Amino acid sequence: MKVICILCDQPFQPEKLIAKKIRKHPHRIQICPDCRQRITQQVEQRRLAGQTGSTLCHPADALSSQSPKD
Ligand SMILES: [Zn+2]
Repeated sequence: MKVICILCDQPFQPEKLIAKKIRKHPHRIQICPDCRQRITQQVEQRRLAGQTGSTLCHPADALSSQSPKD
């Protein structure tokens, strides 16, 4: 049996176990292994970026570091 990936619209052959699940729940959306891997990488990158982004100094720190004007 072949399944159409919702992301790339390419038909792919699911694994036997997955094919069984699809037959039981045919309305579930399916993603081919290629797209699944791509999404996993994107999520991982976003997670890493979010971690580094949260360590940026607070805007208030930049304000307080300004030397007072006379
Ligand atoms: Zn795909």
